[in-house]
Amino acid sequence: MKFDYLIVGAGFTGATLAERLASQYDKKVLVIDRRNHIGGNAFDRHNEDDILLHLYGPHIFHTNSKKVWEYLSQFTEWRPYFHEVLGVIDGQKVPIPFNLNSLYALFPPAYAERLENLLIESFGFGVKVPILKLRESSSSELKFLADYIYKNVFLNYTKKQWGLSPEDLDPSVTGRVPVYISRDNRYFQDTYQAMPRQGYTRMFENMLQHPNIKVMLNTDYKEIYDAIKFSRLVYTGPIDEFYSFKHGELPYRSLRFEFQTLQYEYHQSVGTVNYPNEYDFTRITEQKYLSGQKNRATTLITEYPQPHITGITDAYYPIINEENRKRYEAYAKEARNSDVIFAGRLADYKYYNMDQACARALSISEDLEAHK
Ligand code: FAD
Ligand code: UDP
Repeated sequence: MKFDYLIVGAGFTGATLAERLASQYDKKVLVIDRRNHIGGNAFDRHNEDDILLHLYGPHIFHTNSKKVWEYLSQFTEWRPYFHEVLGVIDGQKVPIPFNLNSLYALFPPAYAERLENLLIESFGFGVKVPILKLRESSSSELKFLADYIYKNVFLNYTKKQWGLSPEDLDPSVTGRVPVYISRDNRYFQDTYQAMPRQGYTRMFENMLQHPNIKVMLNTDYKEIYDAIKFSRLVYTGPIDEFYSFKHGELPYRSLRFEFQTLQYEYHQSVGTVNYPNEYDFTRITEQKYLSGQKNRATTLITEYPQPHITGITDAYYPIINEENRKRYEAYAKEARNSDVIFAGRLADYKYYNMDQACARALSISEDLEAHK
């Protein structure tokens, strides 16, 4: 049998491409993954206490893209979910992203009001200000506030998470969690915020359940590359690995997850608590908030950042800064001159959220078949 496409990786990127190519363009597709499951890092399954666990860390779906939302809605029902995060600052739990409620929780009311007025005068109500931009403020009081937030919310968390200071990363990294001049305690403000009602894995099963799609697990593409007949290759794994690291290794960050089940109903008051300044871990997420399950037990995931060591720890995060982008460019250049389609968080070396990975795959599938 000859396949039209061999797709390496059954995560958001690979599954979306497989589904589109098979059902919209009637292509024969083989999807392979070296893990023993589909779903990539969004994979979830129930543990022995029936709690739906995200095995590769908590994944919260949010998007402003109507196209992505409508596309995925063909494969899952949704449960509306607005993620909330508290950060432990000076022994108090305050909303993250840092907002006006955080301000009032940490400072005396009169001073908080003065800072609130200054923030609104300088930036406007409802505006999101990246911390590195707030630090450039010319007002000495706002500079004081910015330095306080920088030191208490960002500096140590970022050092733990990345092994780097905020200035050594692209500003877009800390810009993901800006200071928010608002009373809105939600972590995201996207138009669509919801979790797949029966989990991500079920949604992926539905995406891949097409007669034109075959799935092969526990298989690295190098093992079968020569044995399978196919017309085009789509690769969603780490691009440096694809090219046998010929331009050097691209830096990634890894994590170790610790799962703990407690025999009582709830442990935290919100989905995630961040610990910027204490401990070796960054955050603890209580899975039940994400799934909405009622259960007498509860499971927590604690995230411990780790260096990425090829072949030993998983590459979870591309480390985005100028130097690494240049290194990636050497691979990107080769990719542009090859026939292989590279896509996804690791193949594009971009800090994609799930919806961005899906959007990229949708746009590639349109280009591939429309411009033939
Ligand atoms: P992946 O999911 O990484 O899939 C790539 C697949 O390719 C993997 O299954 C891998 O096994 C396979 N593969 C690689 N190389 C080979 C090979 N040589 N042979 C065979 N198979 C191979 N996004 C959000 O929107 N919201 C969140 O809350 C969120 N939380 C996150 C938390 C963590 C801890 C992490 C790490 C990521 C989070 N993300 C979140 C991002 C999300 O995981 C990614 O956007 C998404 O998984 C990207 O999908 P992908 O298909 O590009 O890559
Ligand atoms: N960040 C931080 N303190 C926080 C939350 C986030 O310093 O309390 C910074 C940190 O550098 C982190 C980045 O903002 O890596 C992006 O945070 P996000 O929650 O988006 O990370 P992800 O969910 O992708 O791990």
